[in-house]
Amino acid sequence: MAFEGLSSRLQNVFGKLRGKGKVTEEDLNDAMREVRLALLEADVNFKVVKEFIAKVKEKALGQELQKSFTPGMIIIDIVNKELTELMGGTQSKLAKAAKSPTVIMMAGLQGAGKTTTSGKLALMLKKSNHKPLLVAGDIYRPAAIKQLEVVGSGVGVPVFTLGDQTSPVEIARQGVQHAKDNGLDYVIIDTAGRLHIDEALMDELKQIHEVTKPDEVLFVVDAMTGQEAVNVAQSFHDQLALTGVVLTKLDGDTRGGAALSIKAVTGCPIKFAATGEKIEPLEPFHPERMASRILG
Ligand code: GDP
Repeated sequence: MAFEGLSSRLQNVFGKLRGKGKVTEEDLNDAMREVRLALLEADVNFKVVKEFIAKVKEKALGQELQKSFTPGMIIIDIVNKELTELMGGTQSKLAKAAKSPTVIMMAGLQGAGKTTTSGKLALMLKKSNHKPLLVAGDIYRPAAIKQLEVVGSGVGVPVFTLGDQTSPVEIARQGVQHAKDNGLDYVIIDTAGRLHIDEALMDELKQIHEVTKPDEVLFVVDAMTGQEAVNVAQSFHDQLALTGVVLTKLDGDTRGGAALSIKAVTGCPIKFAATGEKIEPLEPFHPERMASRILG
């Protein structure tokens, strides 16, 4: 699972602190040096690490550690709170339009997991008694439409497609109209990705954005991408004003740096975490639970 390396390194650092009846400033500095290395090794953005350590130190020094009987626990608690903050503090909910349907646009690089995640999101919504519609807006990747149709029929959610000869902008526009006409309350637009960001793709996404005016623009990102994920998220954010992030493949052997940096760098909250290739309901991302899991 994700974060294993980071988790065991941090537990090691805090194991040493936990038992101490006294924590000197030197002990604190040593511990923070190790936390810093652990975060960098987990591929967390270096600026994010620097700010994180500074905040923890400042808070720890304000706590009169010398007077406490459990100074180690105080530090662990501060780190836990800061880690939670780093990942967004509280859970960020999916937007809901005042007037149905709520339009959700999925964006991200090819292979990030957009189509799979669209299916998981549709299933999550269906399970909470909504009526979602999946819109097949990726007309370039061979078999992408078919893949979405298979996903849709697997979870019992309708898929709107106009084949691969109509422009994705038009497909998206008609998809939203189709939802309106048929009383469906969520529209999930699957879009095309490229291996790298390119202008033609961004232009198309911007047009889909203009035409459908999405309530939610979710950036789907493979957590295994590490540092690069943060840069890609930032460029999508600059162009599309993302409203949230979905971290996929957290079941993989990722070091977790993306999860820990993306919110801090882009300001976009991580709304969902996805695991596995099977279409299960998408899980909301809980910063506090993730922090506790990392600290063990
Ligand atoms: P897209 O190009 O962004 O639409 O990506 P796909 O949804 O086609 O996913 C690309 C590959 O990643 C497929 O083989 C998926 O089965 C796999 N995948 C997607 N999400 C996850 C996940 O959360 N965990 C794992 N292990 N694999 C995933």
